[in-house]
Parts: sequence; structure tokens; C-alpha cells
Amino acid sequence: MLDVADALAEILARVRPLAPGAARLGPGALGRVLADDVRADQDSPPFPKSLRDGYAVRSADCSLPNRELRVTSEVAAGVVPTKAVAPGECARIFTGAPMPDGADAVVMQEDTQPAGDGAVRITDDRVKPGQWVFARGTEMRAGDVVLAAGAALTPAALGVLAGLGLVEAKLHPAPRVFVLPTGNELVEPGHPLKPGQIRNSNGPMLAAQVQRAGGVATHRGIGPDTLPELLKLVGDELDGTDVLLVAGGVSVGKYDLVPAVLAELGVATHVRQVRMKPGKPLLFGTRGGTLVFGLPGNPVSAAVCFELFVRPALRVLAGHPDPGPTTVTLPLAEPIAEANDRPTYRPAKLEVGPTGYAVRPRPWHGAPDLRGLAAADALLVLPAGEARLDPGSLAQVVLIN
Ligand code: AMP
Ligand code: MG
Repeated sequence: MLDVADALAEILARVRPLAPGAARLGPGALGRVLADDVRADQDSPPFPKSLRDGYAVRSADCSLPNRELRVTSEVAAGVVPTKAVAPGECARIFTGAPMPDGADAVVMQEDTQPAGDGAVRITDDRVKPGQWVFARGTEMRAGDVVLAAGAALTPAALGVLAGLGLVEAKLHPAPRVFVLPTGNELVEPGHPLKPGQIRNSNGPMLAAQVQRAGGVATHRGIGPDTLPELLKLVGDELDGTDVLLVAGGVSVGKYDLVPAVLAELGVATHVRQVRMKPGKPLLFGTRGGTLVFGLPGNPVSAAVCFELFVRPALRVLAGHPDPGPTTVTLPLAEPIAEANDRPTYRPAKLEVGPTGYAVRPRPWHGAPDLRGLAAADALLVLPAGEARLDPGSLAQVVLIN
């Protein structure tokens, strides 16, 4: 049985970023990853511009208090100034407007008074050169790498690309993930339960985890615990997807048919069982370019395996240089006393206190207790053995939001 870190290494050793292609930019590209550096084709701002509504002045003219200047022109945003500011003159200017020649500073409207006869009195006697001016090229210079290959598109990055005039960029595609929950006892939500049945929580949960991790999930119903049907269902999907997530049926029971099905279909198994709780039955294999995860059926086991193993794989496929998961060390908000035979990943919630973040375990009754995970945004990692921890003692925490 592999440790969590070794299992993750086995998986990631077999994952490469998906081949990038030209993609349209827009909110749909949020979170996707640039495959090439993006350079500025010109300075930004392309001209020195005013940061305030006020007056464009020659700073040297304003060294004495209450200096009066003649207003000889007006420049609004979007207009090209045609008249230079000569000594003793100024130009009415507005935020975003290009600075006229001759002027080297802006005095805010609030620091002026009308002086009659087309003049203005400058009440600010400490006007510095460059004041309230966003100099040409402050944000970027032509040729600068503004966003590097491997950068994920945040809303601000999408704004920067729009600022460069781009409508397309070379992006890694979002991984396609087929989600197949299995189990004869499962019924889709919206349908009544017969005795012995339970509803399919894993399908909707995993599809949402895929989406949160930047993938595109497809989910076409439930697989039964019968060999021929499962063979056909899995076989039909293996080639048309980047990742296949089969949930349930991966353990060692009589009705756990997934390992046999995958073997029959020529999937090479690289990970079978991981020393962790929940999630021990995890299976990982590959066929051609398709990654196959067999996730345990208990919903919290499936969710934890997703965060620890599937999400990092999806991040690599999507081109992220850092696969994660993000692990931090935080103080406990309450004591813990429990013994575990394997490293345990427990639903927990981050809290913001006066001295920073702390982590509080959620009430939780084990692998089938999905309710205990629903309000969690972290997994508290407890090493194998006896854990007796006082509030404030430091613990490892995997962030899952
Ligand atoms: P298995 O891994 O198939 O042995 O399933 C382990 C446990 O998880 C059993 O109690 C199943 O009924 C339950 N389970 C399996 N699949 C799902 C699912 N999609 N949603 C909710 N519970 C499930
Ligand atoms: Mg089952």
C-alpha cells in the first residue's frame, strides 16, 4: 500500500499538460492557463495621463502660494491635446485625459479656486513634477512579458489581455472528465427510494468538484454492479475523455467489479490502495492518454480522493505549473483526541480569529457522512497513531476551496 505522497507522485508522473490551442477570451476562459508568454505590444499607458480632474500645470509655476494661471485649453479623456501649456498657463484636464505638452503635473480641482477672467488660483503650494500623472509605460513597456506561460487567467488577467487588445490566446484546454457512479443500490435524485436503495450523491458531487477544479464534467447516469454492462459503459467512454472517474465498486467485495473491468479493458493499474482514511481503496490507471481513477463509493472517501489525487492531475492537464493540493500549517481551534491506524483527512473549517486563521474539525461520523463535509473548506490531516492535541497546537491542513 502506498503512502499519500507516493501515490500522488505515481499519478503525476503519468500526467502531461493537454496540448494547447487558440481559444477565445472571455469569462468562459476564467481559470484556464496560458501556454505562451504574452508580451505588451506598446507602452501602457501609451501616453502620460491625468489621474485627477483638475488643471495640468508646469510645476515650476506653482512654487509660490496662490499663484494664478491662465486657463488656455481643455483636455477631456479620449481627446488629443493640441495646445501646449506655456509658462503662466494651465489646461483644464479630466481623469484619463492625455497631458498636454509643457505641463508636467496635475493640480486637483479641490486645490484650486476660480480667479475670474479665464484664470485659476492654485492653492496647493507643493506641486511636485509628475504629481497626479500616470507616466507613459508605468504599467508596462512595449516588449514586457505581462503574463507568463503557466499563468492562470484571473478576472484581472482577462482584463489585462483585453487591455492588450487580444480576443484570443493560446490556452491549455479544460480537461474533459467522465463521471460514472456505480452501484445497484443507487437511485438518481428526483426519484423515490425503494427499500435498500440510497440516492446517488457522488455523481453530482464529483461533477461539481470537477468544475471547481477547472474541468468539464459529463455524467450519464449510474453503472450497475454487473460485469457485461459495466464493461460496455466503461469501454464506451475510455477513448473520448481525458479522465474517467468511476466511483464505487473499487474495493475487494464480490460486487466490486471495477478493477476486473479496467483490467479487461487494458487499463494499466499504477496505484491500488493508499495508506489513508478515508479513501484507502483508491485505484489509478491509464490507457493510452486517458487517466482512470477508481474512487471508493463512500461519498467522503470519493471527495477526499478527488481533492488529494484527481484535482492535482486535472491541474497538470490544464497546464498549471503547481499541481497542489495546497497544504498549510494552522493552529487548532479546539482540542483533538483520537487514534487512527492510517493518516486521516478529516472535514474541517477555517476560522478567522484575532491572530489569524485557525482550523476547527467538523462533527463527522466517517466515510459515509457527507453531511459532515458539506460545510467544510479544509481537510485536517492527522498522522497515524494517537493524536492528543491541545487548542493552538499546529496541524497540517489541506485547503479544498
Ligand atoms: P462501494 O465502494 O461500491 O463498496 O460503496 C461503498 C459505500 O458507498 C456503500 O455504502 C455504497 O452504498 C455507498 N455509495 C456508493 N456509491 C455511492 C453514491 N454514488 N452515492 C452515495 N453513496 C454511494
Ligand atoms: Mg458498490
